[in-house]
Formats: sequence, C-alpha cells, structure tokens
Amino acid sequence: MIPVARPFITTKGIAYVTQALKSGWVSGEGPYVKRFEKQFARFIGVKHAITTTSGTAALHLALSALGLGPGDEVIIPAFTMIATAFAVVYTGAKPVLVDADPKTWNMDITRIEEKITHRTRAIVPVHIYGHPVDMQPLMTIAKKYKLLVIEDAAEALGALYRGKMCGTFGHLGCFSFYANKTITTGEGGMVVTNSAKLAQKIRRLKNLSHSPSKRFLHDYIGFTYRMTNMQAALGLSQLEIIKTLIAKKRRVASIYERGLHSLPELSLPFEKSWAKSVYWVYGLLVNPTSGITRDYLRERLKKSGIDTREFFIPMHEQPVFTKMGLFKNEQYPIAQDLSRRGLYVPSGPNISQSEIKRVCREIQHIYEEL
Ligand SMILES: *Cc1c(COP(=O)(O)O)cnc(C)c1O
Repeated sequence: MIPVARPFITTKGIAYVTQALKSGWVSGEGPYVKRFEKQFARFIGVKHAITTTSGTAALHLALSALGLGPGDEVIIPAFTMIATAFAVVYTGAKPVLVDADPKTWNMDITRIEEKITHRTRAIVPVHIYGHPVDMQPLMTIAKKYKLLVIEDAAEALGALYRGKMCGTFGHLGCFSFYANKTITTGEGGMVVTNSAKLAQKIRRLKNLSHSPSKRFLHDYIGFTYRMTNMQAALGLSQLEIIKTLIAKKRRVASIYERGLHSLPELSLPFEKSWAKSVYWVYGLLVNPTSGITRDYLRERLKKSGIDTREFFIPMHEQPVFTKMGLFKNEQYPIAQDLSRRGLYVPSGPNISQSEIKRVCREIQHIYEEL
C-alpha cells in the first residue's frame, strides 16, 4: 500500500529526542523548546514564535490572546479543516463563512465584504493545501474595517505569497506539526507574531496564566498548551531539513502534474503567479464529465494499493454546527462541490518517483477502461 503520507524522521532527530530524554527535561521547560522557537522564528522571519500542543491549540491561543469572545463574529472559509471553526467556537465567538475560490480552493476574497457586520472582529484566512491566500486584497479589507487577521497557516509552512512567508501577514500566524504536516513533532503547533505584547500574552495563556509577579496567582483563565522538550527536539531536527522537505513536496507536485495533465477528466492544483505553494497534499478534482465519481476512483485506487483521502466536508454541512443552529439555510456551492469531487493522492516527503508514476499509471488505466 502506498500511504498518503509518512513522516521523514532523520537519525539526528532520533539523537535529539534521545538527548532530550536523557537530560531529564521532559516537560515544556526544556532547552529544546527555546531552541525550536528561536530557529522557527528565524526561518519564518518573525520576532516571536511560541510552541503549543497542536495547531488547534495555536488557533485557540491566538484568538484568545486577541480577546475574541461572545458577541464577536469571525470570518473563516467554508472549505477548511474543522479546527479553524472549532477554535472560534471555543472562544464563544461566532464563525461566519465565506465560500471558496474554484481555482485555488482558498477563501474567495471578493466575497468577504458582504459578510462583514458591526459584530465582525476578525478574519481567519486558511492557506488551503499549501497554496497561499491572496493576502494583499484581504489585508486591505481588514484595514478598511479595522479587523484582526489570524492566519491559519497549518498547511502552508514555507509557502510564499509575493515572496513573503505565509503566516507573517496577519497579527498572528498559526502552524501545525501533526504527523502529516510539512514538519512534524508528532503532535504540536506554533503561534508567530511580531508583537512582543501578544507574544507575552500567549506565553501566559498557554501556561495556566500564572501571574508574572507571583506564581499560583491567576488573573484570568489559562490553558495547558505546553509542547514537551522531546517534541521540540524532534521539531528542531525537522527544521534543519525543512528546505529539502519543501523541495521534495514541490517535486512530487511537478511529477504528478506531468503524469496527469493530459487527462481532461481531472482538474489539477493551480498555482497563481504570485504564489509559491508547498503542495502540502496533491489534490485532484474529478470533473463532472469524467464518467466516474470521486468515490469510484478512490475505491479503484485502494484496490490497487494506493491510499487517498477525500477533501474536507464544508463547515455548513457539519452536524455539530447544525445542532448549534449555525449556518442554517446557508449555501456555499463551491465548497460543497470541492468536497464532492476532491481527493488527494499520496504526497508525503518519502514517496519515490516510481511510486508517483505508479499512481499516475493507475489513474490513466482506470480512465482508459471507460
Ligand atoms: C492540521 C490543521 C489544523 C490543526 O492542526 P492540529 O495540529 O491537528 O490541531 C488547523 N487548521 C488546518 C487548516 C489544518 O490543516
């Protein structure tokens, strides 16, 4: 079976984790945590980076640090991973959806303004599957309406928008280090910012909000979102090879592109001229005239030992939100269409050229049969 992704763990990574264990520093106070944060900030080009237990925790911390809560509305894409919406709901604020762009699959910037009300406080753009959101017009809208911007860059570590790193455009940027993300710490996340004040607030919030002047005295609600020293050790080793990992992803995408572009039955990922995508996963859309469904294609590939995943199910179709009375009678046709027709093929950093070619041959073969 060719899996959709496998992590790329180096011998140095194993050595760092072992060293972390041997040092006796196992919790979030260890030296690898500081080193990982420092190197990450340097790579991204920001002043502050704060480790967390997950990408979801990073988003929750970011929204909490900005003081979002009940009565506030936060604009997010309809087509995203549910963590984006959950983080908003954790704070008590209300998520408000914007449909997707059919080409980049990101939030359609031209449809943001119609969703802004007197309650809107923030926008959370998500760089879907590693392709940057069109940040310039988004920031113009944010400025015009005095909105906060929190980038969900969980899928876009190292992706560039007009030459600048995703995650550095908003007030805060959030990353995930889950097993299948560009770099991994097993489980983990990071918040980045250039604001010393916000960084300090996030550091307090992630550690139970101990008062800086007196430990065990707490002025407000805090969380335990501390990354362990072992995870940070792994993260540091991953940062050392991040350029290679990104180059591998882009190479995977170009081999798929070459192998599949001649098939009119499929739509392939699109890279805008101003974007450098990291192709976190290589997504495909099965065209309506294709003769077969997405689910049939997935089933056939599975029988040939090729694992795939469906695209996200849009937020307005999530039972959890329907039960809460959210997004009632709202329509997001592009997000819905992506969710019905989209799948992604094996695209981890470990996949070999011959494995990618096998996937392409198999897809070609399925269509030739028709
Ligand atoms: C992976 C991901 C997250 C959450 O990351 P976890 O580390 O799994 O909590 C959030 N948003 C998006 C878009 C993601 O892909």
